[in-house]
Amino acid sequence: MTAQTAQPKSSPFEEVNRRLDEASEVAGVPQEAMALLKNPYREIRVEIPLVIDDHLQLFTGFRIQHNAARGPYKGGIRYHPHVDLEEVRSLASLMTWKTALVEIPFGGAKGGVACDPTIMNDKELYDLTVTFFTRISMVLGPTRDVPAPDMGTNAKIMGWAMAAYGRLNGHTPAIVTGKPLELGGSVGREDATGKGVVIITEQWAEANGLSLKGARVVIQGFGNVGSFAAKHFVGKQAKVIAVGDVKGSIKNDKGLDIPELFKHVQATGSVIGFKESDPLNSDQLLFQECDYLVPAALGGVITGQNAGGVKAQVVVEAANHPVTPEGEDILTGNNIVVIPDIIANAGGVTVSYFEWAQNIQQFAWKEARIHEELYAILRKSFANVMHFAKEHDCSLRLASFSIALDRVYRASKARGYLRL
Ligand code: GLU
Repeated sequence: MTAQTAQPKSSPFEEVNRRLDEASEVAGVPQEAMALLKNPYREIRVEIPLVIDDHLQLFTGFRIQHNAARGPYKGGIRYHPHVDLEEVRSLASLMTWKTALVEIPFGGAKGGVACDPTIMNDKELYDLTVTFFTRISMVLGPTRDVPAPDMGTNAKIMGWAMAAYGRLNGHTPAIVTGKPLELGGSVGREDATGKGVVIITEQWAEANGLSLKGARVVIQGFGNVGSFAAKHFVGKQAKVIAVGDVKGSIKNDKGLDIPELFKHVQATGSVIGFKESDPLNSDQLLFQECDYLVPAALGGVITGQNAGGVKAQVVVEAANHPVTPEGEDILTGNNIVVIPDIIANAGGVTVSYFEWAQNIQQFAWKEARIHEELYAILRKSFANVMHFAKEHDCSLRLASFSIALDRVYRASKARGYLRL
C-alpha cells in the first residue's frame, strides 16, 4: 500500500503566481524578470490598538505595494475577519495586472485590517480607520499610493481616511478614491464595479451571438458589487433568478424584483425573507442552472471540490479570485467559460482613475462622460482579450494575464529595472 500524503493547499498568492508563470510563456517574458514582477515591492504591517468596551484590543493591518512600474500603487482597503498577509499579497498582485489590462496609469496595491466591521459601531470604525491610515500615511500619496474601498469598507470610511491623511499633509482629495461626493468623490463610482461586470458580460454575449435579454443570472453576494451588477443586469432585461448574501439565499425562477430587493435589504440588512422569493440553501446557490453565474463576494469559492456541480454557461468573476486554478480546470473541462476578475471587475478601479484625475484637475466631470469613458475603456480592453485568446487559442484568463504581464514588463524595462 502506498502512503497517501495530502497535497499542501496552495495559497492565493501562489495561485496568482502560477497563472503568471503560464502567462510568461505566452507573453515571452524571460524567467529572470519574473521574480521582480511576481513579488511585492513593499509590505507594511501595523498594529492598531483600540479601546472597545473598556478593553484594549489589537487589530493588525497591512498595506502591500506590489508594483508601480506603470504609475502610483492603486487598490482597495479591505475590512474582514479573514484578512491575512498571503491573501492581501495576492489581491495586491491582481491590482497590478488589472490596472495594466485596462491601461490606466497605476500600479497595484491592496490593504486590509483583520476585523469584523459588521459588529463594530461607527465610532470604533472611525478610530480604527484614523489610526490605520495615520500609521501607513508615510507610504501613501496621490503620486505614490492611492487606496480605495474594498470588501467591508465604503465611501464613509474613505472620507475618514482622507481627513486622517489631510491632518498630516494638508487637504489632499486625490489620496483616496471612492470618497463621498461631498469630499470630491466621483459620480458613478459607487456602482462602477457592478456596471462594469454587466458591460463585460454583454460584450461576451454579443461576441458569441447572444443577448442578455432573458438570460438567467445567479449572483453570490449582494454588497456593493453584487447588488449593482443585479441592477444593471435587470437594466439589460436579464432575469436574476437567485442571489445570496452572508445570511442566506433566495430564488425566484421568474426573476427577482431587484428594485424591491434593494429596499428590502436596506430595511432588513439581508436578502433573506424577501417577498415573492423562495428560500434557497446557500450550499446550493452556486449549483443553480443558469446562463451566468456571478460570484461577487469572497475569493476561493469555486474550487476543485465543488466546481463539478456548477451548471452555468459562463462564470463571471465579479469578486477577486473567486475561482481557484483547480476549480477553473474543472469548469473548462465542462465547457464553462470563465471571464476573469481582472477584466470582469475592472470597472471600479477605472472609475477610481477618473475620480483621481478629477481631483488632480480640480474639475468635476458630468455623469455622461464617466459612463462614456468607462464603457470605451472596458470594451476596448475586453475586445483585446477576446482577440488575443482566439489568436493564441487560450483561455480568457491566460489572455488577460499575458497582455497585462507584457505591459508591466515593458514598463519595468523602460525604467531600467531589468537587464538593458
Ligand atoms: N477594490 C476594488 C478592486 O478590487 C477597487 C480598487 C480601486 O478602486 O482602487 O478593484
